[in-house]
Amino acid sequence: MTSRPIYCDCQATTPVDPAVLEAMLPYFSGQFGNPSSPHRYGWEADAAVETARTTLATAINATPSEIAFVSGATEANNLAIKGVAEAYLARGRHLIAVATEHRAVLEPVRYLSTLGFESTILPVRPDGILDLDSLEAALRTDTILVSVMAANNEIGVLQPLQAIGKLLRDRYALDAKPFFHSDAAQALGQIPLDVEAMGLDLVSMTAHKIYGPKGIGALYVRRRSPRVRLAPQLHGGGQERERRSGTLNPPLIVGFAKAVEIALERQSRDSQRLIELRSRLWQAISSTYPEARLNGAWKPRLPSNLNVSFPNLDPSTLLQNLRSTVALSSGSACSSESGKPSHVLTALGLSEGLARTSLRFGLHRDMTDEQMEAIVTDLKAIFAQMKPRETRPPRINLEPSRKS
Ligand SMILES: *Cc1c(COP(=O)(O)O)cnc(C)c1O
Repeated sequence: MTSRPIYCDCQATTPVDPAVLEAMLPYFSGQFGNPSSPHRYGWEADAAVETARTTLATAINATPSEIAFVSGATEANNLAIKGVAEAYLARGRHLIAVATEHRAVLEPVRYLSTLGFESTILPVRPDGILDLDSLEAALRTDTILVSVMAANNEIGVLQPLQAIGKLLRDRYALDAKPFFHSDAAQALGQIPLDVEAMGLDLVSMTAHKIYGPKGIGALYVRRRSPRVRLAPQLHGGGQERERRSGTLNPPLIVGFAKAVEIALERQSRDSQRLIELRSRLWQAISSTYPEARLNGAWKPRLPSNLNVSFPNLDPSTLLQNLRSTVALSSGSACSSESGKPSHVLTALGLSEGLARTSLRFGLHRDMTDEQMEAIVTDLKAIFAQMKPRETRPPRINLEPSRKS
């Protein structure tokens, strides 16, 4: 078997940590009960689910009854956005989101706009960070939801959640405040999250970005004041306090909690190490290909993420040349098939052409120095061999260049 490329696409998904897998296994067979069943098998499964719920709640400074298990961040976003929109029709019909949100936020908002809701999609600054003035200007008395992601899945930048939470609390009376939702799929376990300090009412989470299994996530729904009412999007047996019907999946839920536990325990160590590795990578790229352009603020940013545009290099040739060494993507895993340039990069002001030359590096938390050296060596060789698409005329103008 030829060796596989080094996995460098951790914003798309991560492998399941062996300890997570081990924690999950008993719940597939021996302890297979339905947590709703009123007997020993059910109680065992229920106990495991409730322990996991407590772990998750504690991780974000919430209480267990505020956590609803769902199938992932896509479902959590849909439940938060449509659930609030439907439940608060009488209060207002205006929603606010940000241009760089994941499509699992933008599409539900767009869908609601076909049903008579109004939405404002806020622009971001060229570094990818939301400008609070533009948020403040968009707020209305009939705004029912403000959705701002914690960490971006393409460029890794972190949004100022705490400042946004404060702005909303300062601006509105408690019973008239729009609910504050955050898609924290990339942030959970990687950076500190605190629903109290950040004034969050709804938080979407998923396991598979933090070395947990795919197909499991959770939505935090505030029950302390202001209590959030949600219109359920799945109707049935009334599980999860009527917020999400369907038989709970104990093995995945147990794995999710274990993944969170491990991520929190490793958080500061991993951050430091990933930041070092990423600096090594960026230093190698920018010294060998000086036109390379970093997308998104260097700080604050997810430690595992680097997103770079390579002006004048043909993107498909670049990816093709890299493919045997490193597995990465040219945008988000979800949009790369459509052939459209990333909506996140164009929101930063990149032209479609430049956006298409971008690569997203998502570093694995156990990446070794040797692996990074292999990537760096390969990148340097590729840059040396790939000729820019068009050579520039010699620079004769000594005026400062107008770089934006
Ligand atoms: C991965 C991701 C999602 C989708 O999560 P799933 O659990 O795969 O549905 C949503 N938002 C962000 C920011 C993500 O990174």
